[in-house]
Amino acid sequence: MTPAAHYAALRPPERSRLGEGDFFSSRKWTEIELQASWFAGEFGTRFQATGGEEVRIVQFGVWNREAGPDFAEAAVSINGAAPIRGSVELDPDARDWERHGHAVNPDYESVILHIFLQKGSAAFFTRTARNRNVLQVLLDPSKLGEEPPRSAPLAKPGRCLAPLRDLPGGKAADILDAAAQFRLQNKAARIARAADAHGADEALYQALAATLGYKGNTFAFTLLTQRLPLRLLLREKERVDSLLFGVSGFLPHTGMGRFPQETRSYLRAIWEGWWPERDKWERLALKPERWRTGGVRPANHPQRRVAALAQIVRHWGKVRRLKESLDPKRIHAFFAGLHDEYWDLHYTLTAEGMTAPMALVGESRVTEMLANVFYPLAILAEPAAWSGYANLAAASVNRRVETAAIRLFGGMPQAKEMLKTAARQQGLMQIYEDFCMKDNSDCAECLFPQQIGQWR
Ligand code: SF4
Repeated sequence: MTPAAHYAALRPPERSRLGEGDFFSSRKWTEIELQASWFAGEFGTRFQATGGEEVRIVQFGVWNREAGPDFAEAAVSINGAAPIRGSVELDPDARDWERHGHAVNPDYESVILHIFLQKGSAAFFTRTARNRNVLQVLLDPSKLGEEPPRSAPLAKPGRCLAPLRDLPGGKAADILDAAAQFRLQNKAARIARAADAHGADEALYQALAATLGYKGNTFAFTLLTQRLPLRLLLREKERVDSLLFGVSGFLPHTGMGRFPQETRSYLRAIWEGWWPERDKWERLALKPERWRTGGVRPANHPQRRVAALAQIVRHWGKVRRLKESLDPKRIHAFFAGLHDEYWDLHYTLTAEGMTAPMALVGESRVTEMLANVFYPLAILAEPAAWSGYANLAAASVNRRVETAAIRLFGGMPQAKEMLKTAARQQGLMQIYEDFCMKDNSDCAECLFPQQIGQWR
């Protein structure tokens, strides 16, 4: 008998914790611990759905730290077919899907698998807001270990970790730089296409607006700027805020009495400009469901972003000159100087006023504008602009960069130094989107580990 088998024989027998009264009262595991156990693979990777389908988890995906399902970017094979990608929702009880409003929440449209540990006696179907039936899996709680995993990693390192780690000094950074240049050129080409179609100013205006909407409201801002072109707003400078707020659909039509005095005054002024234009524009106004507000930080609420866009239009001459000069310090200073008497002190139209003013466009947003708009535009005219971009300091690390850093480099501490620049973060995102997001094999068939060898 091996030492391990000997030890195992000495251990007390496993007791199934299921069947001892109520599962959750006997176990007292929290939902997050159950999710961590799922993500750690403690329930296994092969299941039978409640409808009898064979389900294989090819990839557990990543923890979703934003509003929406628990896990994003998972890959699941059903009845041996090619894996499909989507989100996974894990609830202690199947009925939580309805209780928590997932059935009517468009954020849950991406769910391909609903997992739970118990269900009521009545039949329950998991349906999305568009009435799509979602595959259900009832987990076997006896598969749980004694203790929940000690930590719940955001993602797990991939097969490329070892070859990247073994590269000679500086080579991993070279790969990130190359991917960043590729991404920059693609962004430049996209803006150039918009400029061909609508002119350079419109392309700049649309690109800046899309950056204000990143990431949940990029499309809403694109629609807004397509429906309200810059050339029209420049002719209607007195009505810029009214038109932008009216067409964005953010102006309340009734119930003004519920707002505090300063909000009523603000809305009255905006309505004065919107009222004569309303019939003309109403049909193009964005529907409330077009905007994503769940999980958005208050300072980044799309209403504040629309106010920022209005200020950008008001100062369009300066914005155009900033594009020409491409001086990051001046660009930061310009956006730091944007003010709006009402929005400096409000997160939304319904929020109480703040006691201290807050920047209309924060520093990290300006860095995103440099990386996604100003530098791509500059590189169209002058490829040497890359060197300035390469030195641009990153403002912060977002969830996707963090996830990608774990998958490729095993975590942020190791990658921290390398990811101090915006360009390298963008390079990492490019690799993540090109390889990780397209991989349905849990790294097994990904070509990136082999290709790393070419950089030696
Ligand atoms: S999918 Fe490819 S690039 Fe992504 S972690 Fe796995 S091996 Fe690395």
